Amino acid sequence: MKVHFLGTRGSIPTAPSSTVIREKVVATLLAARGKDLRSETQIREFVKKQLPFQSGHTYGGNTPCLNIETGSEDYLIMDGGSGIRALGKEIVESGVSGKTFHIFFSHLHYDHVQGIPFFAPAYIPGNKVVFHGGHDTIEQALKDQMKTPFFPIPFETFAADISFETHIPGDVISICDVTITLHEQNHPGVSYGYRVDQGDRSFVYSTDAEHTSPAHGKEYPFIDFIKGTDLLIFDAPYTHSQSIGNREHWGHSSNIMGVELAARGEVGTLAIFHHDPASSDKDMDDFLSHTKKFLDRSKLAVREARPGIPGAPSPRAHPSEVLVAYDGLIFEV
Ligand SMILES: [Zn+2]
Ligand SMILES: [Zn+2]
Repeated sequence: MKVHFLGTRGSIPTAPSSTVIREKVVATLLAARGKDLRSETQIREFVKKQLPFQSGHTYGGNTPCLNIETGSEDYLIMDGGSGIRALGKEIVESGVSGKTFHIFFSHLHYDHVQGIPFFAPAYIPGNKVVFHGGHDTIEQALKDQMKTPFFPIPFETFAADISFETHIPGDVISICDVTITLHEQNHPGVSYGYRVDQGDRSFVYSTDAEHTSPAHGKEYPFIDFIKGTDLLIFDAPYTHSQSIGNREHWGHSSNIMGVELAARGEVGTLAIFHHDPASSDKDMDDFLSHTKKFLDRSKLAVREARPGIPGAPSPRAHPSEVLVAYDGLIFEV
């Protein structure tokens, strides 16, 4: 499977300001001083290989959306945040039609549904769009957000064949050559995480979930849900102190909680997701190094606690990697 991250920002879309772009240009020119950059090839190589992420890229500002390539003809999409607009545009421009799009919602907060009115394939006859989720209010919510005075055209303008499917935890959904299960999560109004399995490969998409003190307990159902997956996409806009301070009960978790749960669930890679709209690219880079340091320290602590068996496999050998997801990232599971 290939997971395409189209939107990774939480709460509200955030565009980079002119000042931010200017600072990236300045940082790039400073880094280029003294380098032999006469040809375009040399310049492109330098930008590709030598610039730090925060100068040559951006984490992006679109709200949550993933497109998962499964090898199936049908499309598998998670959430309809603003990131879904570019996906729809690309599909329509490539001339693809007569397709089925399965769109799963974690929940119906605005940042997870606001891209749906801009999803171009839904306006094309012959396409089929199936909206899935654990909430039985999906149809109403999607129609409401396109009502006057919030939107100029009603939901009924969609010309594709539209349908809705509600699922409950315990259901095993077989579509797009994968199996999907869902897990209820702690979030205002409840959210659902999705586990996607294909053969021996798997990942979990778990956004907008607050893991509180029961998460540290021995029996915590989320651990079974994520057990042994290759990739855990985890809602972590906060530091540990924010998550237990003034942002407690806001429905989100910390990077530290992500590392702990991913370790206990023996997850391959932890992907930090649903970034705070106030975080700059520099903040995100710092957040990543802070998370990596914590991960390294916790691995070291386990090795020291078990000196007789160096390198012995232990739950704390996980996650093997941590990354901060960004708009445009493609992760092969
Ligand atoms: Zn959200
Ligand atoms: Zn939410």
